[in-house]
Amino acid sequence: MIIQLDKKITGAQLKRLKEKLRDIKYSTTHVSTQYADYIIGVGKNEFDIRAIGALPGIRDIHRVSDAYKLVSKKWRVEDTAIKLDNGVELGAGRLALMAGPCSIESEEQITKTIEHLAANGVRIMRGGVYKPRSSPYSFRGLGIEGLQLWHEKASAAGIKIITEVMMVEQIEAMADYVDIFQVGARNSQNFNLLDALGEVDKPVLLKRGISGTIDELLQAAEYIFSNGNERIMLCERGIRTYETAYRNTMDINAIAMLKEKTHLPVIADPSHGIGLRRYVSPVALASVMAGADGVILEVHEQPEKAFSDGQQTLSFPEAERLYKRLRQAFELREMF
Ligand code: PEP
Ligand code: MN
Repeated sequence: MIIQLDKKITGAQLKRLKEKLRDIKYSTTHVSTQYADYIIGVGKNEFDIRAIGALPGIRDIHRVSDAYKLVSKKWRVEDTAIKLDNGVELGAGRLALMAGPCSIESEEQITKTIEHLAANGVRIMRGGVYKPRSSPYSFRGLGIEGLQLWHEKASAAGIKIITEVMMVEQIEAMADYVDIFQVGARNSQNFNLLDALGEVDKPVLLKRGISGTIDELLQAAEYIFSNGNERIMLCERGIRTYETAYRNTMDINAIAMLKEKTHLPVIADPSHGIGLRRYVSPVALASVMAGADGVILEVHEQPEKAFSDGQQTLSFPEAERLYKRLRQAFELREMF
């Protein structure tokens, strides 16, 4: 069960509530986020929800028997919207577009990408400065210096930064330069990283693991929420299946299902989802029709020269066409 506490609950009232829950053999976890305080009760016994809900100091009580609770739509029926301070809103009836290179490579590349994004009304730029690579000999990113340079240019243009954090130890140094922390597919169940991002007051985009189930993704998000951060987006980026014709199998099904199971915004990453440039557009459009709240795309001025993931990266003219079509698809969907 989830119990949202009244902001004015007294110490004595809280103690009484916990005693009541102990009486019915429920374990309790106190969750304190940037927005509210909750008690999560876990147990098997039947209980009278009215008897607990009527106790003083309680704002709201819900039965949620799934393993994930705070991220469940059973508890919060309204979709969560995440506001950034450049006016961009993610979720709740808006289409969020995020685009940029797989890796941040140079000052020139940053400048050209920002020009391209600004000209197309895209206000969130993606890019990796710490890159998880299958081979240790591949380019692994420009690190914190690259991020600082990128931040200087992006903030001057009113563009927000989403970038991957790979280790708990990187969070503090990155936090001043990052607007959205990305948790990559390979770290989707790095519970120490998720715990730590729960303590940061910055939005987190959590990717689905390479072989992660929908349930595992939701439970991973629960780690972040239950550690204090409600500003979470989930990202479908394709999963590993027996199909080898493309890099991953973009699980469009998951987008539709996640939209029903959680109130968190759901973002589609068709670039990694299929991994082949010429199919990125149709898969992106299908993701929006399936209910995605946003799309994250890899774009580069010269994709064939990109340091990483060039084969799935759109050129600027290709990306421009897609942004327009995505906005049209979104409008059409909202009319259904
Ligand atoms: C990326 O966004 O460049 C990336 C490495 O993504 P993923 O974690 O989904 O593979
Ligand atoms: Mn990539």
